[in-house]
Amino acid sequence: MTEGSVISIDEKSLQKNVTFLKKKMGKNVCISAVVKANAYGHGIEQIVPLFEKHGINHYSVFSYEEAIRVYVSLSGANTIMIMGWIADEDMPDVIEKGIEFFIFNIERLQVAIAYAKELNIKANIHLEAETGMNRSGLNAEELAIAISIIKENDAFINVVGFCTHLAGAESISNHPRIQKQLKNYNKMLSILEASNIHPKCKHVANSAASFIYPKARMDMVRIGIMLYGFWSSTEVFIQYFNNKANKQDPLERILSWKSQIMSIKEVKCGEFVSYGISYLAQSNIKTALIPIGYASGYSRSLSNKGIVLIHGHRCGVIGVVNMNMIIADISNVPSTEVGDEVVIIGKQDDLEIKVSAFSDISDQLNYEVLAHLSELIERKVIVKE
Ligand SMILES: *Cc1c(COP(=O)(O)O)cnc(C)c1O
Repeated sequence: MTEGSVISIDEKSLQKNVTFLKKKMGKNVCISAVVKANAYGHGIEQIVPLFEKHGINHYSVFSYEEAIRVYVSLSGANTIMIMGWIADEDMPDVIEKGIEFFIFNIERLQVAIAYAKELNIKANIHLEAETGMNRSGLNAEELAIAISIIKENDAFINVVGFCTHLAGAESISNHPRIQKQLKNYNKMLSILEASNIHPKCKHVANSAASFIYPKARMDMVRIGIMLYGFWSSTEVFIQYFNNKANKQDPLERILSWKSQIMSIKEVKCGEFVSYGISYLAQSNIKTALIPIGYASGYSRSLSNKGIVLIHGHRCGVIGVVNMNMIIADISNVPSTEVGDEVVIIGKQDDLEIKVSAFSDISDQLNYEVLAHLSELIERKVIVKE
């Protein structure tokens, strides 16, 4: 380990998740792997070739920059879809590379058409409908305008998809709102089809919706968190297991994060540890310094709360989390040495630190914990036996 810490990606677990989700969605539903936010912290360059190898051929990202990272990581013919940000100056490259993208307002449509005309090729678009989340997308009025613009420019526009995003399918409390969104979506779809535009890819579901609302699967599901082995929420997890005899979790976490002991120190009873006065040694203790901190994605809210694994023991993080370092209490761990393995997320002997444990103590979503993992941390792919 030359870096202070390493994130390992377990290929076998990734393969299991892909297989499970493909089977669950059925063969008529395309799975688009959502790899935004550096593939939920796992590393676009490491994850994308693995997904490709295990049969995923559709990728969703937020921005142009992410799309290009996916583009260069792929080896065969695949579809890349940008759901969010493209600077105008990047639009020609997007169109030339055949990358698909969401049209969420009229301005975006006009920019796309202008560049498609200049290049004399068709832009591949997904019309995004505003169905009730009130974040992005065309409302009914704007959809009508978009339809007439598309009609006038059909030599330059290929309407591949019609989509929307549901505002919180992972929670039952949002059920009425989601139902209303699905109804609005279908209404807008029929308007589109009545004007003789028939997108072949209709999609609305993320991980949670694809489980909770099977009807929402349509032609494609945009799955992020579950491909990485996490349930969107406890509610989705419980709903899945309801009425199932087998309570074995079909999803496997694929990421682990390990570091090493950088330095060991004895601290006398009555001394404070790290910045300020948040941790006072109640006895003579032994501490280990670990080279990860909030700059690596280890939240400062884990100060005096986090747990790491050393030699198969749970060790508490004491004092505040620093920018690049944390300190763990190793008083009860026998024969520790500088260089010994420290598990931040993952397994060691019989123990495991889960992202969920992590997020529970620091009040973060698992999405958030993952997205914060610094891109500077080395990622490596491993195949466990
Ligand atoms: C992030 C995102 C998804 C994936 O959500 P998960 O809960 O991770 O499956 C799907 N669709 C859109 C528009 C997104 O932004």
